[in-house]
Amino acid sequence: MPSIFTRIINKEIPCEKILETESEIAFLDILPCFHGHTLVVPKHEVMKLEQLSTEEVTALMLTLQTTARAVSRAMGGLDYNIILNNGPHAGQEVPHVHFHIIPRAVNSSYYSFKNRKPYPEGEMSKVGQLIRNCLKD
Ligand code: 5GP
Repeated sequence: MPSIFTRIINKEIPCEKILETESEIAFLDILPCFHGHTLVVPKHEVMKLEQLSTEEVTALMLTLQTTARAVSRAMGGLDYNIILNNGPHAGQEVPHVHFHIIPRAVNSSYYSFKNRKPYPEGEMSKVGQLIRNCLKD
């Protein structure tokens, strides 16, 4: 069965998309640790990073960098964590490799995946637009 992220890539499930390339998609996490929490996902569905080819990892890293820069800019230059839960025993819930970009405010509990709250009505699309605006140099 395809992963939920493959279903998003195939447009069977909607998402607040930040960017899409030939080989990756980036979209807002539905249950963010902080506004702007974004997932960067390769289109090739594998569970673990090492299952991607060198070319796929290289392209993924470039998209990760582009997305992370835009997320940080959109949040006023905040620092952020980039996290990969690489396999179920490392906390991976969706078995399709993906990086989390999580902005962190001053004094935030930077190590935490806790205190996650859905966006208030209408807020997710505003945050998405803010980040997309910051993709342009
Ligand atoms: P993991 O624990 O596998 O590293 O993270 C999976 C992430 O995917 C979680 O942060 C979760 O909130 C997010 N997620 C799960 N289902 C969906 C979905 O349908 N849409 C979006 N945008 N995010 C999802």
